Amino acid sequence: MQKNNLGFPRIGINRQLKKACEQFWAEIITPKELHNVGSLIRTQNWAAQLDAGMDLIPCNDFSYYDHVLDVSLMVGNIPLRYAKVSAKYDAELELYFAMARGYQEDGLDIKAMEMTKWFDTNYHYITPEFYKGQKFRLFSRKIIKEFEEASLILGKAAKPVIVGPVSYLLLGKEINATFNRLELLDSLLEVYYDVFRELEDKGCQWIQLDEPFLVTDLTEQSKKAYSYCYKELHKRFPEINIMLTTYFGGLKDNTPLAISLPVQALHIDLVKAPEQLDAVLNIIPEDIILSLGIVDGRNIWKNDYLKSFDLIVKAMKKIGEERIMIAPSCSLLHVPLDLGLETGLDLRLKMWMAFAKQKLKEVNDLYAIVKGNTELLYKNQKVMQTRSQSALIHDKLVKERTERVDENYIKRKSIFSVRQEKQQKEFNFPLFPTTTIGSFPQTKKVRQMRSKFKNGGLAWDEYKNGICAEIDDAIRFQEEVDLDVFVHGEFERNDMVEYFGEKLNGIVITNYGWVQSYGSRYVKPPVIFGDVSRSADMTVQWIKYAQSKTNKPVKGMLTGPVTILQWSFVRDDQPRSETALQIALAIRDEVSALESAGIKIIQIDEPAIREGLPLCKSEWQDYLNWAVRAFRLASSGVNDETQIHTHMCYSKFNDIIHSIAEMDADVITIESSRSQLKLLDAFIDFKYPNEIGPGVYDIHSPRIPLVEEIEEHIQKTASVLPVRNIWVNPDCGLKTRNWEETSKALRNMTDAAKNLRRIFQ
Ligand code: GLN
Ligand code: ZN
Repeated sequence: MQKNNLGFPRIGINRQLKKACEQFWAEIITPKELHNVGSLIRTQNWAAQLDAGMDLIPCNDFSYYDHVLDVSLMVGNIPLRYAKVSAKYDAELELYFAMARGYQEDGLDIKAMEMTKWFDTNYHYITPEFYKGQKFRLFSRKIIKEFEEASLILGKAAKPVIVGPVSYLLLGKEINATFNRLELLDSLLEVYYDVFRELEDKGCQWIQLDEPFLVTDLTEQSKKAYSYCYKELHKRFPEINIMLTTYFGGLKDNTPLAISLPVQALHIDLVKAPEQLDAVLNIIPEDIILSLGIVDGRNIWKNDYLKSFDLIVKAMKKIGEERIMIAPSCSLLHVPLDLGLETGLDLRLKMWMAFAKQKLKEVNDLYAIVKGNTELLYKNQKVMQTRSQSALIHDKLVKERTERVDENYIKRKSIFSVRQEKQQKEFNFPLFPTTTIGSFPQTKKVRQMRSKFKNGGLAWDEYKNGICAEIDDAIRFQEEVDLDVFVHGEFERNDMVEYFGEKLNGIVITNYGWVQSYGSRYVKPPVIFGDVSRSADMTVQWIKYAQSKTNKPVKGMLTGPVTILQWSFVRDDQPRSETALQIALAIRDEVSALESAGIKIIQIDEPAIREGLPLCKSEWQDYLNWAVRAFRLASSGVNDETQIHTHMCYSKFNDIIHSIAEMDADVITIESSRSQLKLLDAFIDFKYPNEIGPGVYDIHSPRIPLVEEIEEHIQKTASVLPVRNIWVNPDCGLKTRNWEETSKALRNMTDAAKNLRRIFQ
């Protein structure tokens, strides 16, 4: 039985990668200095995995921005618009980051590639673009270099990890609809062959091909592509061991397909889908090794050794110990690095948790248990028992309150058309009202102020005055730019979920629990460990202050229950729907408090609604039912005149647009610009009933949108939606931008809205 790891966090123990990338972008450090940081992180990672006793250790799981973009570079899939950047630099790195972030320098103005959520996680990848007749070629040799580097450090062959060819194609999009991207498989495979050949020459034995699409509903064509692809690979490289890796769900109907592929090992996720073990064991051929994903790679709870042990024993009995590997369920990219750093955490809670390093130790422990170490099993059972019985988890009042929720709690007083009329009287907005999504640039000064206050280096009064001064500036700025609905700027918030996590009961915040969200943006998901409730106002004072400084309406700004749930590490001892309900009630209380404080517009952000969707369509409706219900529970306790906004971003929304409508927010601001307005297609067949602001520019790029571009965007929107329902706003919050960019972009935005008012009025 071997111990297998699929991927390790890549951001470094002190988040070095973030700092290094950002310094590189700001031209403070050289490519070589950035590479040195990367190399050091990799070296530390390999050492840690070796220490933890792993037999199969991944390489090429490291990435400077995104592992899907890495594949695009590997196979030379570089959209034509970046040709000028590659001509300018001979180095790969500038091109790579231009694709990820856009490029606006020396007269060039090139948009970034689209970004999409990685399955149902909060990690975002850069969407590959494909065109008809496309030919690939080996371009980036990163994987080879990392293999050599790793093997040197490990003293044995590392296991290179790449997104499998079929998943790579499925992750992307056709830039013109006249063909199917799976047609490109042959040309793509040529590059994989080149890579395999070189790896084999250099002594590589195992290659891990990640094919998470195998846990989703596949078309006949995709299934054929799988059979073809793996047959061809095997034909050419009979000596290389391919580990076909699936995760985030069960193989279900694709089980026969997966086990029919000529590979040496199959990895399955037994945390998300323990039930698939029987089905797989029943039909797995004798020459395939089974890698059991038993330690949760997506959550931070300590493994229940008895449960895992049972699964291992079951597999051992059926196919024998030699044909088994044990592993985390998926790459550990989705959990923080080391629980050992959390010296400030309540020890009772800490005892229940495990981060990446601890998870590898769990794999090792489970191995030892199989080999007869019952002591480890016994100790673990004690921890499991204390957790399930702990008074920290169970709050009787919360449980009683959720039971009382009935249909009256999830309905506004009147239907939308009635509310719209009342609200129009109340606010008297012009056509195409303009607003932003909530946050304004988080300058170094603001971040320092917050961390100084947190560490006790700044008294509350000083801190409060500091934040209020920022709010003053933000209000003045918005008056200058002439927006219609203001925000306070979210300067007091480090993160939209963490902020609420700090204030709600039943949730704890870690100090160093960072995970990558996209590129150099990392998040620190709160840990929901027990019943959730609210014991005091969370946002009222700041919003009230902002409102006192202007006659324009200021939006109260909250994070919605589904997003808090989705972006946290959630307790695994009750259904997610139950936890969502508890959070929704807490947010509902804050909504009421804002309304009582005279706030007339309240935005409840739900950017994560889409990513919570189960990977299999058959489970969608159940999820959507409780998710929509949770949002409505949070938002419907207000008067008709109070305008409820919500916001969503970075997903494909078209297939859930009905459910978005059912959320019944008065206004939704929604990302649409970075994905080239695909959202608008949804409104051709579906009459979206409420008001809506499809984002008019991409905020993840430093590029300034032109007035004409924004006008064109609004015009397009106006061709599919009633003019009086359209809002004008950026794609998302502006915290990652600087003030100069923000000012230029927003001025162009309000100019565009004004120009169009003249045309449409
Ligand atoms: N109100 C949040 C902000 O502006 C929304 C962020 C998001 O949608 N991800 O930052
Ligand atoms: Zn957003």
